[in-house]
Amino acid sequence: MMSIHSEKMPNFAVIKLEKMTLNELRQGETAIILKIHGHGAFRKRVIEMGFTRGRKITAVLSAPLRDPVKYSLMGYEVSLRRSEARLIEVIPVADANRPYDITTHHVNTLDEFSEQIRSEYEGRSHTINVALIGNPNCGKTSLFNISSGASEHVGNYSGVTVDSKSGYFDYGGYHFNIVDLPGTYSLSAYSPEELYVRRYLREKSPDVIVNVVDASNLERNLYLTTELIDMNRPMVIALNMYDELLRSGTKLDYETLGKMIGVPIVPTVSKTGKGIGSLFDTIINIFEQRETTVRHVHVNLGSDIESAVDELKNVIKGDGTIEEHFSPRYLAIKFLEGDSETEELLRYSNIYNELVADRDRAVKHLQELYKDDISSLIANEKYGFIAGALAETMEAGATDNRSKTSVIDKYVTGPLTGFPIFILIMFLIFWATFNLGAYPQEWIENGVAWMAGLVADSFPDGPLKDLVADGIIGGVGGVIVFLPNILILYFFISFMEDSGYMSRAAFIMDRVMHKIGLHGKSFIPLMMGFGCNVPAVMASRTIESRSSKLITILINPFMSCSARLPVYVLLIGTFFEAHAALVFFGIYAAGVLMAVITAWLLRGFWFHKDETPF
Ligand code: GDP
Ligand code: MG
Repeated sequence: MMSIHSEKMPNFAVIKLEKMTLNELRQGETAIILKIHGHGAFRKRVIEMGFTRGRKITAVLSAPLRDPVKYSLMGYEVSLRRSEARLIEVIPVADANRPYDITTHHVNTLDEFSEQIRSEYEGRSHTINVALIGNPNCGKTSLFNISSGASEHVGNYSGVTVDSKSGYFDYGGYHFNIVDLPGTYSLSAYSPEELYVRRYLREKSPDVIVNVVDASNLERNLYLTTELIDMNRPMVIALNMYDELLRSGTKLDYETLGKMIGVPIVPTVSKTGKGIGSLFDTIINIFEQRETTVRHVHVNLGSDIESAVDELKNVIKGDGTIEEHFSPRYLAIKFLEGDSETEELLRYSNIYNELVADRDRAVKHLQELYKDDISSLIANEKYGFIAGALAETMEAGATDNRSKTSVIDKYVTGPLTGFPIFILIMFLIFWATFNLGAYPQEWIENGVAWMAGLVADSFPDGPLKDLVADGIIGGVGGVIVFLPNILILYFFISFMEDSGYMSRAAFIMDRVMHKIGLHGKSFIPLMMGFGCNVPAVMASRTIESRSSKLITILINPFMSCSARLPVYVLLIGTFFEAHAALVFFGIYAAGVLMAVITAWLLRGFWFHKDETPF
């Protein structure tokens, strides 16, 4: 809800200035148009017909069955379905009970008022909502940070961005709201990230999508682009890691490529900020519909699949009640793929049975024809489209830009050196966390003891002295004494994430973790569990498979976290003085053993086998 309050317009206080959608406007009411949602032909058409920001519109009357509704704007009348009117955001300027007051000498007519609203909106906000979408590790978070000035944690370990972050900034006279969405390889409804991105696109309809693409890995990255193209939303491609592309000697005619796919492409280096300015200039041009590259292209799926898509699309188009947030073509392709969420979306429409019959017939036909399942057929066609487009615009360089990384990878993930390096690093982390951590720990202990002593000397004996010296100072001291350990551990964990070693660790540990029914990625949260179980459980979010995630969370408390250290030390010191080191190790080992047994039991008796690929 929003209200406009301005000194220039004192009399407008009588008017309820609330945002709503056009379909909520009652008969006889007038409103000012704020924004057109929706996509493609619909959006284009209504804008062409004069549904623009600041325009005055009146609901004239609705059809006998309440739908469609006739509106009047610019002195002519136009009918819209309620489902279409729902995509138009307006501010009502008068209702039946509160006649519009235009007696003020500042504004004499409704037209002037609408002009004021328009300029108010333009002057004050001119807001563009931007969503960053792309594969994991293509540089979305870096782009987000450099443009919004925020400093979100940037990680090289795919999965660091599981929920979205939003920021805002002003540029070129516009206010940008920018959202960093989780990385996805496609828009299918399998992983939580994919579902998240899809729901976001449906519910929030950002004004401009920034498809961030890793230029050094174009073919795979453009797959997601083809799915976004199907959606037919205003979009720009940030050709990120352009520095890597140049270094590899690859030549890419990105302007021609952009024209071919109907999406403007802007090279960027989000690590340094190069190209970010022109990216946002392009976003503004798209928002203002000045960008000439923008064109709706169909990613051609071959005549057989295309005719099936067309058939479904026409059925979907024929029914006015269906979801206008996605284009019929997108829905048709997804429905053909058997996408569960699209199925859900269409289930309650009148045409569902017809769609299912058509789809099943088409799928059967295509599968007999090509001897392959429908999703792979569509994926193959899309990759074919990408390969074709790149063949015409890209000339691969001779140098392998990944060579430095692959040399390092040969050692850190190699059969002979992988585990020794891994154990060495784990040992180093443990040693640093506990042995190096012991020094600051001692300082804190001494400091606490000194403070407690100070209190003991200056307070008279009694409950107050005990409370302050033993309770407060002793109690807080007992907790903060572990701060050095936690800080050191976290330093190493973020170092491993940012350097990319974390994913190598997952790679080499997968075999072992898989034995107890877990994923290589489970190792990281479990290992963090030695530091503290709370962030370790949170780190389990990075595991895609639900069952592996749950098991990892459930066994995590068996990993002895650092807060248990004082208890262990106390018990060992009291009962096992002679064999302290051995018992200490034994407790840790017993915890790990319990975790392994529990994981194994949970996987065997509770959860089904996990088939998520590594
Ligand atoms: P996200 O997973 O898409 O959010 O990707 P991040 O922003 O976390 O970036 C992944 C890695 O790529 C980080 O190590 C970044 O420093 C690096 N990176 C991001 N943009 C660029 C770029 O334009 N050029 C190069 N060379 N590296 C980049
Ligand atoms: Mg990220």
